[in-house]
Amino acid sequence: MAFKQRVFSGVQPTGNLHLGNYLGAIVKFVALQQHYDCIYCVVDMHAITVPVNVWGGPDVLRKSTREVTAAFIASGIDPNKHIVFNQSQVHQHAELAWVFNCVARMGWLNRMTQFKEKAGKDRENASVGLFAYPALMAADILAYRATHVPVGEDQKQHLELTRDIAQKFNKDYAASIHAHGYGEAFFPLPEPLITGPATRVMSLRDGSKKMSKSDASDYSRINLTDDADAIAQKIRKAKTDPAPLPSEEAGLAPRPEADNLVGIYAALAGTSKEAVLREFGGGPFSSFKAALVDLAVAKLGPIGAEMTRLVADPAYIDSVLGEGAARAQAIAADTMKAVKDIVGFVRR
Ligand code: ATP
Ligand code: MG
Repeated sequence: MAFKQRVFSGVQPTGNLHLGNYLGAIVKFVALQQHYDCIYCVVDMHAITVPVNVWGGPDVLRKSTREVTAAFIASGIDPNKHIVFNQSQVHQHAELAWVFNCVARMGWLNRMTQFKEKAGKDRENASVGLFAYPALMAADILAYRATHVPVGEDQKQHLELTRDIAQKFNKDYAASIHAHGYGEAFFPLPEPLITGPATRVMSLRDGSKKMSKSDASDYSRINLTDDADAIAQKIRKAKTDPAPLPSEEAGLAPRPEADNLVGIYAALAGTSKEAVLREFGGGPFSSFKAALVDLAVAKLGPIGAEMTRLVADPAYIDSVLGEGAARAQAIAADTMKAVKDIVGFVRR
């Protein structure tokens, strides 16, 4: 059976949104609106999988949820043409996640690097939710039977797990799926969309670590709400090496910090690393960094300003989320009814 093409992706309302989230995910969300029906979700249920002092508690969660929504809209996502909502308003995510908890295997989840990284050394003390995170993520996507999922490189493994869950569900329940008129497969195997020069934006302080909301140093990341001065300071202080920029992309391979800055420039300018090196190769970092500051301020400044304007009106943001949730739920409820029939849950 051919599945209706649909895009789904989510961003957690934890900490400050940064350039990695923007270039790795949000820029792609915006572009995909032209050719697909898109559903973009603020995944607040994922946010509470880490300790409460890390996600910040109820007031911070509400604030961050509205901030991520504002970032979506400020970046160019149209909540009227597409769907923007927060996960906890559509209970089918949690319901389908339970079914997927029973489809996914311990061995599969044990291999997830995000769990290992976030749980750290004290795994016994990590929440059960952090371990089960990928099953909820699979439910987020498959509640809409989405076919395409734009994400950063760090989410590739979770997308593979989503496909494994979809495939095992389709196989375990094949006879019931067929008997209920859904043909050979009920769930599509969603494709990750991980493309472009900035699928993994690295920390500005350490080229071996991904730029992250949770890094203790604010100098490691550029936040979407940073003003021009902060952006300029962070780029000027960004770690580099003493050699001039190479003229060929191959020259970036052993130089993670240079590679990262060139990738950021290329993504912000909507071009390739090769094209950036044609312009700046052979030159010193100082002039390249100055150009990068100008470009970053020009691109991010208006988004930060619009975010500030939008979050000043929480009633508007909440109405966007509420209307989006109602539209999302209409789709997810149909999926969940079918899943109940397929699994054998008696329903009204
Ligand atoms: P956390 O540390 O709380 O997991 P995060 O920065 O990873 O925060 P998420 O909400 O988990 O943010 O991810 C949102 C999207 O941003 C995902 O598609 C993820 O792949 C992408 N993303 C996150 N960090 C980067 C990065 N450094 N470079 C490119 N994409 C990224
Ligand atoms: Mg993450």
